[in-house]
Amino acid sequence: MSPPLPNGFFIDGARRAGSANESHPVTDPATGEVVAEVAVASDDDIDEAVRSARAAFNLWKKVSARERRDTLKKVADAVKAEADPLGELLARENGKPLNQAKGEVVGTAGLIEYYAEEALRVSGDVLPSDHPKRMVMVWKEPVGVVAAVTPWNFPLALLGRMLGPGLAAGCTVVAKPASDTPLSTIRLAEICHDAGLPPGAFNVVTGPGGTVGEKLIGHPDIRKVSFTGSLEIGRRVMELASKNIKGVTLELGGQCPAIVCSHADLTIAPDALIFQGFKNSGQVCNRVNRIYAHSSIYENLIEIMTEKMSGMITSHAFDPDADIGPIINERQGNHIHNQVVDGLAKGARLTIGGERLVGPDYDSGFFYPPTLLADTNHEMLVMTEETFGPLLGIMPYDDLNQAIEWSNDTEYGLSSFVFSGDLRTGINIASQLDAGSVYINDIFNTYVQAPYGGMKESGLGREQGSVAINEYLEIKTVYMDLAKKNRGGYPFAH
Ligand code: NAP
Repeated sequence: MSPPLPNGFFIDGARRAGSANESHPVTDPATGEVVAEVAVASDDDIDEAVRSARAAFNLWKKVSARERRDTLKKVADAVKAEADPLGELLARENGKPLNQAKGEVVGTAGLIEYYAEEALRVSGDVLPSDHPKRMVMVWKEPVGVVAAVTPWNFPLALLGRMLGPGLAAGCTVVAKPASDTPLSTIRLAEICHDAGLPPGAFNVVTGPGGTVGEKLIGHPDIRKVSFTGSLEIGRRVMELASKNIKGVTLELGGQCPAIVCSHADLTIAPDALIFQGFKNSGQVCNRVNRIYAHSSIYENLIEIMTEKMSGMITSHAFDPDADIGPIINERQGNHIHNQVVDGLAKGARLTIGGERLVGPDYDSGFFYPPTLLADTNHEMLVMTEETFGPLLGIMPYDDLNQAIEWSNDTEYGLSSFVFSGDLRTGINIASQLDAGSVYINDIFNTYVQAPYGGMKESGLGREQGSVAINEYLEIKTVYMDLAKKNRGGYPFAH
């Protein structure tokens, strides 16, 4: 376990104490123990971080793509080499089981590694011109300093999706991690710097989103905002960015549906639904939140899932048998339980879970077991409001068109899932779902090379894949005349 960190900033290649003499505690969600006190950034601290990123940008954007590639590869290797201690720090502040935390560190290194190579693939264009000896070129240039604001559920991986393409494009970054989980981000910045990233290329400021986040996003020298978080704050981020017409990439919430058809393979679907419903304690934006199962297999699916869920272990991050850890905080725990209470009051059937775990191992944190509410409907919160916790709702359907309509009956459009024994039916359903990603017959984690993002109010722009680097590039069109003498013909020439 890394020692507790004394302060909260990483600016211009070094840790800094805050100038405001104000701090907030970061606690282990399993035990309530204070892991570290983290400084709250003052306006001066934020100005300094942006100034440092701005100065670094003027150098980093001129570094050759090959050198950027080489530096980012070293950074990725260094992050991977720190998977154990950085994973421990992440597990401590976030509560996720240790092996999953270490996996997140390795995944973050993978993102940086992928974008290291993408640095070499940024290309412009030469277009046909209207005249001989005149040329039109399209250049791509880095946007500038990026504000990267991230949530607590995957503090490193979600930042990696911004850092990788941002740095590869030639931008520099000021990150503002979630107040619940800032420690791993600060340490990540230090590792990146020690591996050769120039001072100022990746800075971190900490403190509440409503003050520090807003000041950072609104700073006139920030030219791009990458935000992952809730829909409500995403709207506010757009508002703040509009003042100086900054570009935004938004990865927001989800209320993701799964359709399980009558001929779905029930040796596959239950495990896949449980994996995607409960990993990271269900604190995942593109988790399955609600299931529409054909009435012919409905009870069978519930029975299999309930049986499998009964074997899952909810425990502390450092218990090697843990499948899921604690909920990040009491507020989030109460939000989840409120959906259960709401469903039961409206006639849902609880097949498993449904009560906060109590006892000496649980009382210092908020532990909630895998929970399934059956016989739900769209009057219930579990089917309409993002849960962000280990609770699934399931309801039967007879008419596939109705199931598709229910699936799309949400302001969100992040991911959707389909299980069908007939691939043609699966593809047909996928084509009708309003979602940035659709998974047919299995559920994997996302791939770094595949674009990820949401339709409708789940977001704007895409992360991952080669397309994401464009979020950090400006297009410049350059016209050039190659003729040796004035060709004349200008309307105002005398
Ligand atoms: P959140 O409350 O929106 O916070 C996200 C980040 O924004 C945190 O760093 C937060 O700082 C900061 N913030 C809060 N208010 C702000 C403001 N007024 N201006 C600027 N920044 C502000 O979200 P969360 O509760 O941490 O995360 C859960 C949400 O994230 C869920 O809705 C989930 O679906 C979404 N999410 C989406 C994706 C995706 O890829 N689409 C991935 C993961 C999570 P503080 O922590 O200091 O408040």
